Amino acid sequence: MSTQKPSQSEEEYIIKQDALVRHKAALEKAKEMAVAEHEAQRKLHHMRCPKCGMALEAVVFRGVTLDKCYHCNGMWLDAGELETLAGHGGDVLSRVAAIFRR
Ligand SMILES: [Zn+2]
Repeated sequence: MSTQKPSQSEEEYIIKQDALVRHKAALEKAKEMAVAEHEAQRKLHHMRCPKCGMALEAVVFRGVTLDKCYHCNGMWLDAGELETLAGHGGDVLSRVAAIFRR
């Protein structure tokens, strides 16, 4: 009565199956790491000026929230906000520029 040693082909099959499972797990892990890295970057940069890194301040002008940097005088808009401002017509963009001109 002895433990049967796996044949060469059985051994290869077992290793191959194990490799497939481990490869799938490694891909999942990489995906989780990418999601975590993106979340870390989002937290790090949220409401920070993309040009100089100082904190942005929210200023509501005609119903649109402008993200303003009082350090470098940059101003940032979320998706759709430029269109909303432009939609007010007239000289609204010049007026915003005039408010913060220095
Ligand atoms: Zn700035």
